[in-house]
Amino acid sequence: MGNGAKAAQKRERNADKGSKAAKSQTKVNEAAKSIICADCKQPFLITTRAPALTEHADKRHNKTMEQCFPGVAK
Ligand SMILES: [Zn+2]
Repeated sequence: MGNGAKAAQKRERNADKGSKAAKSQTKVNEAAKSIICADCKQPFLITTRAPALTEHADKRHNKTMEQCFPGVAK
């Protein structure tokens, strides 16, 4: 019983923490929704278009999009 109460409390606190973000957007995991450059770890929005990613890879690292953002569809 004690454990259950503790877990519920923890969940409540977490929900409280996320309520601000939930207001502006749906409850998405920002990290999971981001595209991270494998080279410099710069995050990009998941909605970033391939040309922009290609430009970053090319101008910043002189690499291809696939090298900097493996797994991102063209
Ligand atoms: Zn980069």
